[in-house]
Amino acid sequence: ISEKIKTLDPNDPFFSFEFFPPKTENGLRNLYARLTRMSLLGPLFVTVTWGAGGTTAHKTLDLAVTCQQELGLTTCLHLTCTNTSKEVIDDALGRAKTAGIRNVLALRGDPPRDGVDPERHGHFKYAVDLVRYIREQYGDYFCVGVAGYPEGHVEGADNSDQDMKKDLPYLVEKVNAGADFLVTQMFYDADKFVHYVKTVRSTAEIKNKDLIIIPGLMPINGYGIFQRASKLSHASIPDSLLEKFPEDIQNDDDKVKEIGVDVLSEMVTKIHKDTNGEIRGFHFYTLNLEKSIAQIINKNELLSQVLKKKEEEVEELGEETVS
Ligand code: FAD
Repeated sequence: ISEKIKTLDPNDPFFSFEFFPPKTENGLRNLYARLTRMSLLGPLFVTVTWGAGGTTAHKTLDLAVTCQQELGLTTCLHLTCTNTSKEVIDDALGRAKTAGIRNVLALRGDPPRDGVDPERHGHFKYAVDLVRYIREQYGDYFCVGVAGYPEGHVEGADNSDQDMKKDLPYLVEKVNAGADFLVTQMFYDADKFVHYVKTVRSTAEIKNKDLIIIPGLMPINGYGIFQRASKLSHASIPDSLLEKFPEDIQNDDDKVKEIGVDVLSEMVTKIHKDTNGEIRGFHFYTLNLEKSIAQIINKNELLSQVLKKKEEEVEELGEETVS
């Protein structure tokens, strides 16, 4: 991922997509069809989620290997380390390497509600332990990403420890242990994200001054799910955004999606502008859905440049083939 970003022109925008492995064969078939269509939008990379504790290990690895090898997409494997044995981690990293996957998002994961099993827990307590392990075992083979929290990471049910500054020393640890890029938790308050970027950039202890910061954005596909996902992720919703969804439209999914596309497109434009163009790459939590993402990319002036470039390349290729 970091190498691919380096090959872009300094002002070129990019975007990426997150997918999760479906539970059923039917779901997987549908996802492959969707992935093939979404790859035509031109994502710089895709990521595949991992169930904490290794619960989706096989499905995640199968999907990631298909994305990398059959669909030819630059793929990033999510990997969580809490309550996970070294063998499971070794197996995942080994399979990823064999399949030519060069990117890992190194995460801690949420510990199980009934507590962590000390036998499985021994090696990795925090995400930083996994970053160190990957660097020890694989040197520079993997481009390593970590999670970042513009509104702070919340442990437990109450929000009392939600403070971005609380996590900062641990983010410094993760970056100094060898992280190349950071993808953020979803958020809807663009100002908070911009403040986060400035805070991270002004943190003197961060050794990797080229750390790539990528905002994580979740399209609004329905009012209920928008509210639930924000609550689960402890993402605040600014009043000015809530006002765009008056009560009489909250049950009208089409209308909510339509407004949601505008909201996300405006967020992209604002973040790009308010960071003076530094943030030009955007990661979409797709929830394995296609429509809103395609509409946001088509509608947004910055992101649609990727589509235009791709169309031009296809045209050029066609002309060369004809001549
Ligand atoms: P860490 O960086 O280890 O931080 C966890 C907590 O511990 C934080 O509160 C931090 O402040 C604290 N902490 C860190 N180091 C120390 C220390 N040395 N001493 C004391 N406290 C410390 N979950 C999944 O299960 N599967 C996924 O695929 C997945 N993908 C994700 C993708 C993104 C982009 C993001 C943002 C999150 C994702 N998650 C996923 C959720 C993630 O696993 C949880 O948010 C988890 O609770 C924290 O993971 P982390 O890697 O941020 O942990």
